[in-house]
Amino acid sequence: MKKTLLAVMLIVFCAGSFASKSVKEGILVYDPDKIMLKKFQAHHDLTIDHVQFNGYEVYGPEGLKRYASGITDSFISIDTSRGGRFSNSVNASYPTNRDDEKTYLELAAKYPNIIKLESIGKSGSGEDLWVIKISDNAQVDEKEPEFAYVANMHGNEVVGRRLLVRLLSEMVVKYTAGDPEMIRLIDNNEIFFMPSLNPDGHAKRRRGNAKWLDLNRDFPDFASNANSTNSVQGRAIETIAMMNFHARRHIALSGSFHDGAVVVNYPWDTTKVRPPLHQMIRDISLEYAGLNSNMRDSYNWKNGVTNGYDWYELNGGMQDWAYYYHGDLMITLELSNNKWPHFREIDHQYDLNRDSMMAFMKRIDQGAGFISKDPSDQGWVEITSLATGKLIGNYPYFAGEYYKILPVGDYSFKINSKQAEGTKSVEISVNRNIPMPNGNLIHL
Ligand SMILES: [Zn+2]
Repeated sequence: MKKTLLAVMLIVFCAGSFASKSVKEGILVYDPDKIMLKKFQAHHDLTIDHVQFNGYEVYGPEGLKRYASGITDSFISIDTSRGGRFSNSVNASYPTNRDDEKTYLELAAKYPNIIKLESIGKSGSGEDLWVIKISDNAQVDEKEPEFAYVANMHGNEVVGRRLLVRLLSEMVVKYTAGDPEMIRLIDNNEIFFMPSLNPDGHAKRRRGNAKWLDLNRDFPDFASNANSTNSVQGRAIETIAMMNFHARRHIALSGSFHDGAVVVNYPWDTTKVRPPLHQMIRDISLEYAGLNSNMRDSYNWKNGVTNGYDWYELNGGMQDWAYYYHGDLMITLELSNNKWPHFREIDHQYDLNRDSMMAFMKRIDQGAGFISKDPSDQGWVEITSLATGKLIGNYPYFAGEYYKILPVGDYSFKINSKQAEGTKSVEISVNRNIPMPNGNLIHL
């Protein structure tokens, strides 16, 4: 009787909650043979995360633990307000939202030529959602290829956030000192760091936002919802801020940091169909993992990488949304099994990931694109491989600029402008040794 009641409760939660998912309760299920996994997956209001050899995490609305105890004894509760079992609990050394904000403001004041700080919206409890732009002439919106790193969308997954603040400091200091690697990267591109998409979750040391919503299940999903559009309606305030930010940028390559595993996870998460340019995406992922000894030597994943769907199906994730709706090749970087490690471990994490983060950012050079004379130019571009004659895809562009990460090779770009110019075909070669702005970028 009790069990039936709870099952009914969960089904009620499920109805009408296609997008936003509550993650108020969390459990870690021991289930090496994945016997219970299907039962949890059948409830669409539950969130499954990090399916590993011995078990997985399950999050859901109030009632989850009671429901779980009806089907298994083999789980422990994750106290979602403290980072849970994955956390070394209270750790006063971690900078707070206020501390980090102070750092961003100080850096922006000290390096206004290469840093621009922008709040792209407010969190549920009114925190600014900060994006730090790193580029030469930072205050000007230049026509340059765009890259982004996003961290801490799960509030209790903090390693990536710390790494971004560290990398930011390293970049500005080295740029100012004349380091050629940093000069090339910063002068030629517009780089965006978002250390926290979920400052409220961070402040409360929990996965969800102020409303207990899981931001990485909250984005439009092209596969699990046949009627999906790229609409912000009904989504979490932080998701909306990210969607609006993306819609006015031209980000071609990005990384999203998480914790709870150590692996690079590439698209798609939502369907077993392989994404366009699958082999290149895998190569880029292998490069990140190959430069990180923890990932490279992983027991759980060969070479430290996995296709998302091969790992476990995930609907409403940011990664698939970015690539499907914006052509922004986003990969997910799972850095640490411990979601909130002791602060002294951050130094080691930085050593592990520093070269990977740099190498991944430099992959922006592997893009091709064009800049129109008319800054309001918009339309569609059809990209075809000249070697195989195969159509890569047909992509929208706007505001007179377009960038796309492509395998090394020669391409034809058929640009269908909505303006008076009409259609124009250009040939572009992608050569990783020539940064995109100098070699692979056509000025129309
Ligand atoms: Zn996560």
